[in-house]
Amino acid sequence: MTRDVDAVVIGAGFAGLYMLHKLRDDLGLTVRTFEAGSSVGGVWYWNRYPGARCDSDAFVYCYSFDKDLLQEWNWSGRYPQAAELSAYLEHVADRYDLRRDITFDTYVTAAEYDDADARWTVTTDSGEVVSSRYLITGIGQLAISRFVPDIPGLDSFQGEWHHTGAWPREGVDLAGKRVGVIGTGSSGVQCIPVIAEQAEHLTVFLRTPQYSVPARHESIGENYWPDIKADYDDIWRRAKTSAGGFPWQHNGKRALEVSEEERLRVYEELWAEGGLKFALGSFRDLAYDSCANKTASDFMRDKIREMVDDPETAEKLIPDHPFMSRRPIVDTHYFETYNRDDVTLVDVRPAPIVEITPTGVRTADAEYPLDVLVFATGFDAVTGPFFNIDIRGRDGATLTENWDAGPTGYLGLQTADFPNLFMITGPGSTLGNLPTTIESHVEWIADCIDHLRCNGLRSIEADPEAEKAWTEHVADMAAGQMIGRVDSWLNGANVPGKARAYIFYFGHFGRYRQQCKDVAERGYEGFILR
Ligand code: NAP
Repeated sequence: MTRDVDAVVIGAGFAGLYMLHKLRDDLGLTVRTFEAGSSVGGVWYWNRYPGARCDSDAFVYCYSFDKDLLQEWNWSGRYPQAAELSAYLEHVADRYDLRRDITFDTYVTAAEYDDADARWTVTTDSGEVVSSRYLITGIGQLAISRFVPDIPGLDSFQGEWHHTGAWPREGVDLAGKRVGVIGTGSSGVQCIPVIAEQAEHLTVFLRTPQYSVPARHESIGENYWPDIKADYDDIWRRAKTSAGGFPWQHNGKRALEVSEEERLRVYEELWAEGGLKFALGSFRDLAYDSCANKTASDFMRDKIREMVDDPETAEKLIPDHPFMSRRPIVDTHYFETYNRDDVTLVDVRPAPIVEITPTGVRTADAEYPLDVLVFATGFDAVTGPFFNIDIRGRDGATLTENWDAGPTGYLGLQTADFPNLFMITGPGSTLGNLPTTIESHVEWIADCIDHLRCNGLRSIEADPEAEKAWTEHVADMAAGQMIGRVDSWLNGANVPGKARAYIFYFGHFGRYRQQCKDVAERGYEGFILR
């Protein structure tokens, strides 16, 4: 039996929960939400590896729409762990009685648009079929599409292996074990210090060294939360008009217009404060001027040399790409971990991993015996979660075909040929502090759906010309910045055979948010309404 609803929302993380609340409780629509996990949480439901925390400050890594909740909720510290973030989202689900419209443990396998009646037919892995006017994806960019490199011999491994993005919820007992970690991105950098504490011995297989700023999780004083709670209105005003969704701006100066002494003072202060502010609250030109950037990159290289006792190990850990050419990382004692006697760093650049054997990992010049192997090897970002669902738009158009040169989306919200499909933080939207981007998208989508209904309109979709222009703008914006100089998951380079394209808009979040609003106010300019 096909059930009819106004809207289907896929995913019950930050995005899906707020979307369900907006559509059902503010607009009065009937909504079904499907979630692959057994509870709410999205990325924080799945990413339960040791040390998994947000690396945005918690006071803005949350919803801003519920002012009472902002005052009532008490985070345990500056960057809560995954379980606490899940608990927050569970509380939100209960507070708004959202669970009654969420079907858990259910994966949406297909969605097909019928132009004749402007409706989506959505099918799940439990065999349920639902018809809806609107289809909204809150599937995240990463969560469900873990990337495990195709290294020969993994099937033969007799120990346990896990991907950080699908860590067993009951945990993994690493005591007394020889553990190997492949990957030193955000996930690897977060889990390596914690695994080193738990395991008998840790071997880290490093291919690309990374910059990382200390989180300073422990740095907050007793007035920290009262001050924040008293200032919340202004914090959100600043965050929503800022470059990255955080309540701070760059300092207005170019790195080379100040003296070296002044520059070092700025870097030292931000380093002591910790967190992503080092990247976004520093000099204005670090992201796009290579001479300016070099001053920050060199500062961080020197910090690595200070933190790592063995000079040879330190040199292996020093990146040769510019800071901010990859997504910045925040850590707790990552570099210091390499000073431990029970941690071995294996640089796989001169001697790559050749195979996984029944008892460990073999590189071109040695074999490393292991009981547990951890893949902190990232995700098939953006296209992975979408391509896992057989989504067919008008006249059978598929995302696989439409995105064969890389994923595209007009303002990251919609893509041509897929009417009434809304993507929360789809390709071409900003990265930054994601809950803030998510809230903006959810509110824009809810307003748009309200507009369609109040004006008797059946559908909306991105105009192909507007989408093309936006996609070119996204590419140009990346090309003009450090981020455009280096391959990473941000341009699809981490997955063999994947099309290369920048999946995020590296422009100013506040101005992007305003642009989305302006487009709507001008009668949804760049969209086709029918
Ligand atoms: P990632 O940044 O893509 O890092 C994957 C790592 O695996 C890289 O070091 C990569 O090396 C390595 N790798 C992949 N295949 C390999 C192979 N065959 N041999 C050796 N090394 C290999 O993935 P991630 O760390 O999961 O992070 C992805 C994104 O998730 C982050 O940028 C961030 O946006 C998000 N995230 C956020 C948080 C947070 O907020 N706290 C935490 C975790 C993740 P190469 O660089 O050489 O390819």
